[in-house]
Order: sequence, then structure tokens, then C-alpha cells
Amino acid sequence: MTHQFVSLTPEQKEELANVAQRIVAPGKGILAADESVGTMGKRLKNINVENTEENRRFFRQVLFTANSDISDCIGGIIFFHETLYQKTDDGTPFPQLVKDKGIAVGIKVDKGVVPLAGTDGETVTQGLDGLSERCAQYKKDGAEFAKWRSVLRITDQAPSTLAIEENAWVLARYASICQQQGLVPIVEPEILTDGSHDLQRCQYVTEKVLAACYKALIDHHVYLEGTLLKPNMVTAGHCCTRKFSPEEVGMATVTALRRTVPAAVPGICFLSGGQSEEEASVNLNAINLCPLWKPWKLSFSFGRALQASALIAWSGKEDNAELAQDAYAKRAKINSLACKGEYSPSGDTNIAANYSLYTENYTY
Ligand code: 13P
Repeated sequence: MTHQFVSLTPEQKEELANVAQRIVAPGKGILAADESVGTMGKRLKNINVENTEENRRFFRQVLFTANSDISDCIGGIIFFHETLYQKTDDGTPFPQLVKDKGIAVGIKVDKGVVPLAGTDGETVTQGLDGLSERCAQYKKDGAEFAKWRSVLRITDQAPSTLAIEENAWVLARYASICQQQGLVPIVEPEILTDGSHDLQRCQYVTEKVLAACYKALIDHHVYLEGTLLKPNMVTAGHCCTRKFSPEEVGMATVTALRRTVPAAVPGICFLSGGQSEEEASVNLNAINLCPLWKPWKLSFSFGRALQASALIAWSGKEDNAELAQDAYAKRAKINSLACKGEYSPSGDTNIAANYSLYTENYTY
């Protein structure tokens, strides 16, 4: 019989649980601003802005200096390594600025994906070597939570059992290391929307993947009350010809989560996964309106679906900073309402909010 030796003190557990709950307090979600230098380059290229450290810093400054009302909607911001050590024009370190608004600072700690040999192009995420030391340093430098993204894909053969189990195991090992260093781990097993599969197949695969993740997390003695889950919403593949309503997406998503995610997990913060800003918000709203019992907070941890309009509004011009902040604050407010099932689209959302943000084989 397996046995759990004590790995976290009651005080450590309390700290982790408090941070997790603070991030997903009612109406709050996460801004994922942890795009790597390469991914940020693609975003900037779309608006004809050069991918320099200063341009990356400036855009993040625009987001982080948004009006302090934003903290009613945003409970946490995920940083990329570079951003954690950047400052505002007046010399305030970004983590300090964000903390002073009552927003928790998070850090992306994975090192991207590598091929999983013997599979049909599937991957596993790397970054466990030295992770404990990196987490300890990030904690000293102001981080309270961390993110690790695993990637799975749906084809006729995938995800394979190997990819599901290997990614679940690595996510659990990461989560265990984070908690030992006092960081709340966000567990992100993203199933890409690439493909023509329907809603039912996505639901089936999501259940398999999440079941494997929670088996691994429990086997690693991870303290679930001090974690957050960041899954995909259950949607049909990008190339599926059949369309499903937000209510169907909500029902499929909540059904999959209820079958696999323990009630001890305080919050589930969805990634947007290439949906348009508006689609992601409408689906999050429908998930919260789903008439099944839901023991966790159901919130957002959007990257593209919180920044797309803001990036276009900014377009690399200093004078547009305020317009960009307004666009970001608008999406944050809408998603905050959607977390409570209180968002009713008025139909006047700008065109940018309805652009698909899909990228094939998305890397972060
Ligand atoms: P998207 O919301 O753009 O899918 O990204 C969120 C994220 O953090 C992926 O790891």
C-alpha cells in the first residue's frame, strides 16, 4: 500500500490554498501575458511592430498599468521570465506594480515541447531539470503561482496512451515541485483545436486526458486545494463542418469536468485556444450557465482572447496606449461577467473581437 509522508506543513498548505482562491475570487480570472519572445514576435508582426525588448516591455506596461478597477476582474497575471525583471517607465518593477493592485504574479516555468519519439508527431513538455531552484528564485522575486503547458492533439490515432500518460506524469512532477517551493501550480493539459473532430470526440479525449492528469497528481501527493486547472473548453475541431451552440459547448465541457476533476480543486481557468475574443466569452458564460452542479469556480486564463483588441488598438503607437487599455479593460469586464453567467452580448462588440485567433499547431 502506498503511503504519503508529510511533504507540506499546514501553514504551507494554507498559503497555497489562499493564493489559489484569491486568483479565482468571484468574477476574477487570469491574464496570460507569458508569451515567449518568439510568440510575442508573431503577435507584433501582425500589427507591423518590430519584436524588440522595448516594444515587448511597452505593450506589457500598457496592460499592467490599466486602471486599478481591473483588479475586480483580474486575480492573476502570468509573466514570461523576461517580463518578471522589467520595469515601468518610472522604474517600478512590474511584479511590484501588479502586486500593489492586489493581483497575484505568476510565472511560466516550462521550456516548451519536444517530440515524443515513437508517436505520430506528438510531444512532451520539458523543463523539469533545475525547476526546483528556478521556482525558489521566482518565489523570492515575487511570484506566487506558476504555469506549465502540456500539449495534446486529436487525430484518428492521437492522443496516444503514451502521450497522455507522459504529459500527465510531467505535469504532476512539476506541480509537486512548485508546491514544495511555495508556488501554486496551474496545471495546463491543452488539447489543441486543430482537426475536424466533433464535440463528442473532444469531450471523450478531454475526459481521458483529465482523468490521467488527476491520477498522476494524486499519485504525486499534490495538494489539490492549492492548484488550479487550465484546460481547453470542450469544442469541436477548427475544421469540423458541424456547428455547436454555446449551450452545447457548456454542457459538454461541464460534463467532462464533473467526471474527472475533484471538487477539492478550487478553480478551473480556461485557455481561449484560438477562439475569437467574443466566442471565448460567450462560451465561458454558457459554461457558467450550464444547469449541472459545479463545485469549482469556472473562470478564464486567456492570452489571445484578452489581448487581441488591445494589440490592434495600440498598433505600436505610444499615443494609443489609453485606447489599448480601454480595449483590454472591456474584455476583462466581459469575461468577469461571463465567470458569473451574467454576460449578455449587446451586439455592438467591435469587429476585432470577432476575429478568429486560431493558429495551426499553436506554440506558446
Ligand atoms: P490562449 O488563451 O491564447 O489560448 O493562451 C493561453 C495560454 O496561456 C496558453 O498556455
